[in-house]
Amino acid sequence: MLATDLLAAPPSGPAGGSLIEAARLMNVCNSCRYCEGLCAVFPAMELRREFTTGDLNYLANLCHSCGACYYDCQFSPPHEFNVNVPRTLAKVRANTYQTYAWPRAFAPLFDRNALKISLIMASSVALFIIGFVLANDPATLFAANDSPGAFYRLMPHNAMALLFGGVFTFSLVAMTMGFRMFWRDIGEPAETLTEPPSVWQAMKDAGSLRYLDGGGVGCMNEDEKPSDRRKLYHHLTFYGFMLCFASTISATGYHYLFGLQAPYPWYDLPVVLGTLGGIGLLIGPIGLLVAKRKRDPAMQDEVRFGSDAAFILMLFLTSLTGLLLLVLRATPAMGMLLAVHLGVVFTLFAMMPYSKMVHGLYRFGALVRYAKERRQHV
Ligand code: SF4
Ligand code: SF4
Repeated sequence: MLATDLLAAPPSGPAGGSLIEAARLMNVCNSCRYCEGLCAVFPAMELRREFTTGDLNYLANLCHSCGACYYDCQFSPPHEFNVNVPRTLAKVRANTYQTYAWPRAFAPLFDRNALKISLIMASSVALFIIGFVLANDPATLFAANDSPGAFYRLMPHNAMALLFGGVFTFSLVAMTMGFRMFWRDIGEPAETLTEPPSVWQAMKDAGSLRYLDGGGVGCMNEDEKPSDRRKLYHHLTFYGFMLCFASTISATGYHYLFGLQAPYPWYDLPVVLGTLGGIGLLIGPIGLLVAKRKRDPAMQDEVRFGSDAAFILMLFLTSLTGLLLLVLRATPAMGMLLAVHLGVVFTLFAMMPYSKMVHGLYRFGALVRYAKERRQHV
């Protein structure tokens, strides 16, 4: 049943259409319940008789898009009930990235032409850095130098910290504000986030991608043959990103606590973490892009495809340029590579709050709420 908020003010536009369709499907599924063992979405749905906008946004972010309920469903197209849960929830989920974007005016930034905009932004930042070097000390741009402090001869450490610290801090604030709006919209009190059993359960479920396994057999992608490939690529991407983040934190510690300047020898912690993370962030995004291209179009949100692909490509380019910089840092290519790498990293930070990146946050929140609901209803 549609809840009063959807009945009183039926949402207009494609976003509203997806919400109405999601409410219709949840009513069909609530009568059927054949898929209740596949993932967290169906048990969470069964706790409700009507679906508010917040409920649907919660269920959409709980869905891991494994595709199992599409292939298992006796009412999927060409049946007249036209039940396609993965695609409908993917559309609702994509709309949440826009709905909760902060500041709201920035929401469409990477929505259309995301690839073009991100490449232009990365090139502009790289060219700015190159121009800065050429204006100050052109010889350093092609100098073969990998001694400590060599990076900061191109761009002073303080300028680098200000530029990248600034954009990263802004992204963190924007994502926190977005999460706050999501949390309010689904009707959860702030205290839920301080309940250790719910948070711990959500960390385990998110860390193992528990619901990306089609109920145990694997994820459906290009056809109904299940496989764990998408799960593996997701893991490589997520843990690769976390290792690269840990590498940045440790490098900051080296700089400020021990007074040691980058670049560091290959055996130092920042380089070891960055290399391992970079390899994960090279293989994972490529695997995800290939899986996305091969994915059964019936389950895809075709409108969102370009934007998601642009973000995944930026993750890949961050890793590729970082690893090239590591391998070629003692050569005259170091200056150009550093400028390109910094341009890509800046763009990745800037697009985080307006890209698929936020699905990790909202999904984690949805898992926390689900863990709480499960404990309350056992
Ligand atoms: S997706 Fe189909 S089979 Fe599964 S619960 Fe819904 S209606 Fe039933
Ligand atoms: S696509 Fe997978 S995770 Fe999403 S609702 Fe269907 S079975 Fe659950």
